[in-house]
Amino acid sequence: MTRALKPFPGTHPITINMGFRCAKCGKINPRADKTCRNHCTGCLYSVHVDKDRPGDRASTCMGLMEPIRIDYNSKKGFQILHVCLKCGKEAINKAATDDDAETIAKIMARQNIAHEPETNVHKRKKSHARS
Ligand SMILES: [Zn+2]
Ligand SMILES: [Zn+2]
Repeated sequence: MTRALKPFPGTHPITINMGFRCAKCGKINPRADKTCRNHCTGCLYSVHVDKDRPGDRASTCMGLMEPIRIDYNSKKGFQILHVCLKCGKEAINKAATDDDAETIAKIMARQNIAHEPETNVHKRKKSHARS
């Protein structure tokens, strides 16, 4: 008779290469085949569970990590920069092949706008005219 010493911690959102439920959008993410999935394939949010290196799960922060920018590297593919909303820690994670392309595009579009010099950003005021 084998019994787990502790009940499986259901609040533990991300463990090494396991499926998990996204803490941000609630999406159920299946286990990845080749990579250690550490972020949601839908909204790309992650959770601060790693302290020094990916997968160590040494952090007790557990804050939600927002994907703030995505860079494309010809060797590594898309890389997501996550920032912890609780403690501000930054982490770079490789995007998974099944990450939502639209979300990636959205984040990249947003960061491109942010990088434009002020003068180039035309903030169009919404007119109140109702036609
Ligand atoms: Zn999500
Ligand atoms: Zn944190």
